[in-house]
Amino acid sequence: MKLSDKVINCNESETVKFTPLINKLKKEGKDIISFAVGEADINTPECIKEETINAIKNNKTKYSAVSGLISLKKIIAKKEKVKIENIIITNGSKQGLYEVFQTILNKNDEVIIPVPYWVNYKEQIKLSGGKCIFSNTSNHQLNIKDIKNKITSKTKAIIINSPNNPSGAIYYKNDLEEIKKLSQKNKFYVIYDDAYEDLNYFGEKSNFVLHDNSISVKSFSKSFSMGGFRIGYVVASNEIIYHLNKIQSHITGNVNTFSQYGAIKSFEIYSDEIKKRKKIFQKKRDLAYSLCKEIFNCIKPHGAFYLFPEVSNKLKGQTVEEFTKMLLTKANVLVMPGTIFGMKKHIRISYTCSMNDIREGFSRIKKYLDSN
Ligand code: PLP
Repeated sequence: MKLSDKVINCNESETVKFTPLINKLKKEGKDIISFAVGEADINTPECIKEETINAIKNNKTKYSAVSGLISLKKIIAKKEKVKIENIIITNGSKQGLYEVFQTILNKNDEVIIPVPYWVNYKEQIKLSGGKCIFSNTSNHQLNIKDIKNKITSKTKAIIINSPNNPSGAIYYKNDLEEIKKLSQKNKFYVIYDDAYEDLNYFGEKSNFVLHDNSISVKSFSKSFSMGGFRIGYVVASNEIIYHLNKIQSHITGNVNTFSQYGAIKSFEIYSDEIKKRKKIFQKKRDLAYSLCKEIFNCIKPHGAFYLFPEVSNKLKGQTVEEFTKMLLTKANVLVMPGTIFGMKKHIRISYTCSMNDIREGFSRIKKYLDSN
C-alpha cells in the first residue's frame, strides 16, 4: 500500500548515516576518536539527577498540564522576562521547532535559512508543507544583502541559530537588529533557535528578549547535559503558544513530569554550572582551534562546541563525504561532512571529547594527510 508523500519525501537525520560503518569498525577492534558528538562529555549535574529521582519517588509520575508545570513556567518567565502565557515546555527544542513550523506554515510558505544550518530544519519544514529558501553567509556571518534579496510575499519566517550548529559562529548584534527590522517591516517571524545560548564565549548574549514576531526555542540539553531528559521550551506570543499547546495536546501531551522537576532544579545552579561549562569548553575550543588551523582553513568559532573548517585544499578531487569516510577508515577519526549542513567544502568537528582525544584526533588527521 502506498504511504504518505510526506513520509516518503522525508529523509532520515543525516547525522546517523555513519552509525553502521562506525559499529563495523568498532567490532573489528578499531579505536575510533569521535569528533561527531553533539553533546558535552560532562554528566548531568548530581542535584538535577537527585531532584528527578525524588520526583519519581514522590509519585510525580502522572500526567501533568500539556504546556508544562506552572512552577517551571514561573521560573522561566522570570528568566525570559515574559508572562507564563508566553511559554510552553516541549520535548526538547526539536519538538518545539516542529510545532512552530506546523503552526505558522501553509503550503509553499517560505522560510529563510542561513547556510550552514542545523540538519533538522529542512525535514521539519518539508513536513509542514513549507519551502526552504537558503541564504549564503559570509565567513559564517549573516549576509544581510542576500537575505533582503530572498524576501518575497511568501516569506513566513527566518531561522536564526546563534551560536550556530555547525559553525560555532555568533551572529553580529547589528545584523540581528537588522533582521528584526526587516521582519517587522515585511511581516514575517524570526525563529531564534537558542539551543546553544549559554555556550557563548563572547560574554554578550546574541539574541533578543521577546519581540512581537519573535519565536524563541530553547533547550536544557546542551547547557546541563540533559539531552536524554527531552526537555526544552518555546517563548512566543500568547497566540502562538495557544496553538503550539493544541498541537502538543494531540501528539505527546505533557513533557515527562519528573524531567520538569529536574529542569526546575537546574535554575538553582544556573550561573555556576554555565560558568564552569564555558571555562571547560573555551579551553577545549582554544586547543582544538589551534590544532585545526595547522591543518585546515578555519574561522575561530565563538560559541557552541563545533569547528567548521574549510577543507578544499585537502580534497584532491574527492567529495567531502569521501574525504570524511577516508578520515574514518584510514585515520580512525570521525567528523561530519559539511554537505549535511548545506556546505560542500567543509567538515564539522565537535570538540566535546577529552583534551587528550582532541590532541590525538588532530594528530591522526595530520599524520594521515601529511603522508598521503
Ligand atoms: N537546535 C540545534 C541547533 C541543535 O544542535 C539541536 C541538537 O543537537 C537542537 C536544536 C535540538 O536539541 P534538543 O531537542 O535536545 O533540545
